[in-house]
Amino acid sequence: MENKFAPETLCVQAGWTPKNGEPRVLPIYQSTTFKYDSSEQMARLFDLKDNGYFYTRLQNPTNDAVASKIAALEGGVAAMLTSSGQAANFFAVFNICEAGDHIVSATSIYGGTYNLFGVTMKKMGIECTFVDEDASEEEIAKAFRPNTKLMFGETLSNPGVKVLDIEKFARIAHAHGVPLIVDNTFATPINCRPFEWGADIVTHSTTKYMDGHATNVGGCIVDSGNFDWEAHAEKFPGLCQPDESYHGLTYTKAFGKGAFITKATSQLMRDLGSIQAPMNAFLLNLGLETLHLRVPQHCRNAQTVAEWLEKQEQVAWVNYPGLKSNKYYELGQKYLPNGSCGVLSFGLKGGRDVAIRFMDHLRMIAIVTHVADARTCILHPASHTHRQLTDEQLLEAGIAPDLMRLSIGIENVNDIIADLEQAMKA
Ligand SMILES: *Cc1c(COP(=O)(O)O)cnc(C)c1O
Repeated sequence: MENKFAPETLCVQAGWTPKNGEPRVLPIYQSTTFKYDSSEQMARLFDLKDNGYFYTRLQNPTNDAVASKIAALEGGVAAMLTSSGQAANFFAVFNICEAGDHIVSATSIYGGTYNLFGVTMKKMGIECTFVDEDASEEEIAKAFRPNTKLMFGETLSNPGVKVLDIEKFARIAHAHGVPLIVDNTFATPINCRPFEWGADIVTHSTTKYMDGHATNVGGCIVDSGNFDWEAHAEKFPGLCQPDESYHGLTYTKAFGKGAFITKATSQLMRDLGSIQAPMNAFLLNLGLETLHLRVPQHCRNAQTVAEWLEKQEQVAWVNYPGLKSNKYYELGQKYLPNGSCGVLSFGLKGGRDVAIRFMDHLRMIAIVTHVADARTCILHPASHTHRQLTDEQLLEAGIAPDLMRLSIGIENVNDIIADLEQAMKA
């Protein structure tokens, strides 16, 4: 029923439907535990035979309401909240893979995820091959091995704002009998729903546009329910074979389309923690209620600023998929016809030193490490996040020494441009 509503309505209404006399607004269930009348009732919960709450590390009603709102927005069958976007991507992969397995990922992804796949998961025995996401299907297919278990990419990469050809990635993944996981953080389901293009699982850092106010770190995993684990049962023993830690229960047989999220909750969350605090889920829900209003304003403002920057004499280059000059313009029109996101990057003539002087003259636009919230902010990787690298090393990492990442907020665009203009003159 809920899934028939338009995205704008889902942002406001989905997830929490109070019964007679219950609070109109989603309450915060600020409780670690839940009470039952009989020992038998509690036992059935622990056997996963009944649905219900027993301990907030596994499930909490506030979290579940917000997760189901995000599932409805993405068009998925089930979702879970995590304590961060990093935890969401880790859990999504680790729910499928174990030591000895291999994954294929786009190279242009968030630095934290790149490190997770390239360094930390390697120590756990899971290897990753990074592929040029713009290469041909034949070229990318060469990265696959018999033990490859999934493919990963970002709808819009952070910070390069490259647009992923989701249909191409889905075709390659499915030809190899593995699911495609897409991190949809920058696009949000308002601008792109990767399941409609063949992705099987979607992840989010809800820290960004979904919260939208830079108040709480969080993540989410959504399952489309579309991937047929049983059709490739030998590849996915964790989902298709009995779980010894649950009396030999088999997730695909017991939960059907709910298998992936049930396993992630009852096994990974049980053993590894990383639940989102119910208080944060409540704040996230407030953000979601206006996501459909904020995202288009971010996009309109970013498009106007990108077009303005392109015309300025002091500007050396501008990178935004909404510009006709951009390499990803066509893919953007296909996958994100209503706009991409509020993040763009640009460089000023004169390089690194000019960039530093320019940023020091900004008045309203703040220098912060965050992106994707209501306030316009800026970061210069060469002097902040990557400051230990030389110009040569920066270029090797794909970051121009003059690159400034600008995250356009929802202020009046004239005030944003005025601040950029006065700093450029100075
Ligand atoms: C920020 C970000 C993450 C990590 O999320 P946290 O909430 O900071 O842990 C993962 N993926 C993308 C695309 C991001 O922008």
